[in-house]
Amino acid sequence: MVEAHGRVGLYKCLPTVEQEAADDEIEEQLDDATSDEEKAAKLAERAEQRKTWCEYAHSNNVKPHEIMPESVRSVMQPLTEDTKDDVKDDVKDDVKDDTKDSNSWEEVEAPELPSAPTCPGCESALLPQALMFDESYSSHDFYEYEKFRDWFDKADAFVFVGTSFAVTVTDMAINEAKKRFIPVYNFNLEAGRINPSATLNAENVIGKSEETLEELWHCLRDKLVGEEGAKAVVKSEPT
Ligand SMILES: [Zn+2]
Repeated sequence: MVEAHGRVGLYKCLPTVEQEAADDEIEEQLDDATSDEEKAAKLAERAEQRKTWCEYAHSNNVKPHEIMPESVRSVMQPLTEDTKDDVKDDVKDDVKDDTKDSNSWEEVEAPELPSAPTCPGCESALLPQALMFDESYSSHDFYEYEKFRDWFDKADAFVFVGTSFAVTVTDMAINEAKKRFIPVYNFNLEAGRINPSATLNAENVIGKSEETLEELWHCLRDKLVGEEGAKAVVKSEPT
């Protein structure tokens, strides 16, 4: 799994304006690279350049117990841990009680911080570990851009589940599907998100994911391993 848009409870800092400008330059050259060798050389150059940055700006995550200063950490650390448990409990309650409005999350009052949270590595401002609107997926190792770009290049099909197709990563997948005319399956509660065309081999699968995805799992299992093999892998069936 790749968490291409970040994770609640982790933080990062940003490179300086100069570092980011130099990084953008390599990024452009990477886009223009025509061979695997050229691409690998540019990636190595970028990795070397990023070694001069604060590690939390490109490869590491700030965890709640590392937030600086201590006065801010003492407010944020318990909040992050408590919130995670609350979210889990809310989800469990929603599953148990179908009559409950799933949007009726209790409002939590934002705590007051004595000062802005700062990075333990470079003392600059700390941001949530999330892809911001002006950032690229390759801006931080956490988003694992190279990995999912590689998956896109090798995919035999794309399966979308519950997306509004409003973010760049879905556009990238659709463009790759069009380029190689590979099938796209859109699992969603409503139709109209994407439509098949002369250039897009798309099919909409409408319904609740707990039903449609289970059917998909059975189809894939039978296709990949055959009837005999299916019995052997049945114990790894998702719950
Ligand atoms: Zn930093």
